[in-house]
Amino acid sequence: LNPTNDNLSNEDLDIERALRPLTFEDFAGQDQVLENLRIFVQAANLRGEALDHTLFHGPPGLGKTTLAHILSNELGVGIKVTSGPVLDKPGDLAGLLTNLDERDVLFIDEIHRLSPIVEEYLYSAMEDYKIDIMIESGPNARTVQITLNPFTLIGATTRSGLLTAPMRARFGIQSRLQYYTTELLATIVERSAHILNVPISMEAAIEIAGRSRGTPRIANALLRRVRDFAQIKGNGKIDIEISKFALKALNVDAHGLDEMDNKILTTLIDKFKGGPVGITTLATAVSESAETIEEVYEPFLIQQGFIMRTPRGREVTEAAYKHLGRIKGGIQGG
Ligand code: ADP
Repeated sequence: LNPTNDNLSNEDLDIERALRPLTFEDFAGQDQVLENLRIFVQAANLRGEALDHTLFHGPPGLGKTTLAHILSNELGVGIKVTSGPVLDKPGDLAGLLTNLDERDVLFIDEIHRLSPIVEEYLYSAMEDYKIDIMIESGPNARTVQITLNPFTLIGATTRSGLLTAPMRARFGIQSRLQYYTTELLATIVERSAHILNVPISMEAAIEIAGRSRGTPRIANALLRRVRDFAQIKGNGKIDIEISKFALKALNVDAHGLDEMDNKILTTLIDKFKGGPVGITTLATAVSESAETIEEVYEPFLIQQGFIMRTPRGREVTEAAYKHLGRIKGGIQGG
């Protein structure tokens, strides 16, 4: 299962929307981040001002988009949603910006993928709520300056390292989202099961949660697939037996590691004797960009204790050998 939402079907996207928490109250975990956001929102509401521009960064599926929607709800304002790759020309952005009401939220997903021209254009909008618009063309072409309603830009990125320094500096609030513990994911799974109207045992919720790569999006996706098994192969209820059966049939790793996670570990072991090896060398060996490995895969593998960062590079741990059924030194186990 892929932690990004790139290849979800329309039905999956609808369900994802239905499962999305709408208020601070419904949002599980990320306590420190939420605690601060509650204060900033209260203060902005009290003063009747737009919330400061806010940047969320962290791996896919941890709740960045969800938080953007929650913020607009808690601020009692509208939200317009777009993404870096979609905003081709400054004109596209101008259209969105001039349609924002006072204090509205503009959410830009994958903000690290804005083109430099659009990014530059955004600066004055963020800083002074002003933009220049070109009117007419040819010899009559001229620019006029337009004053925008005060608004909040919320940016989300999985690749904070790719964000330019001037862009980053324009966000007054910056929060990094962390992977979720199994306990938290289990509460998310239970909440989602409730919304989907399917009975689930606590044991089953914990089993699904433990295999979700610390990621609510994956937990919800697994829940939906297990629900299918429960309906077709079981009695409609999600218990521990049907969960284990389904997760096995779905080929989900005991720790919820995905293909790339496992590829990184096996490559470290088979090609580099377990490391240490530099990130660029490792990236080339698994055909993935060094940034993606550093920002999407490695944090989870480190959190799970499968990889260590040492001054000389990345090294696999005993736990990784054990997880893959290998024995240190190269003899393959079963
Ligand atoms: P991101 O934008 O970081 O990729 P999303 O905000 O789209 O992630 O979250 C993916 C899905 O995971 C959402 O549909 C939502 O249902 C669920 N989700 C994320 N965070 C939480 C949370 N803290 N509590 C409950 N559900 C969550």
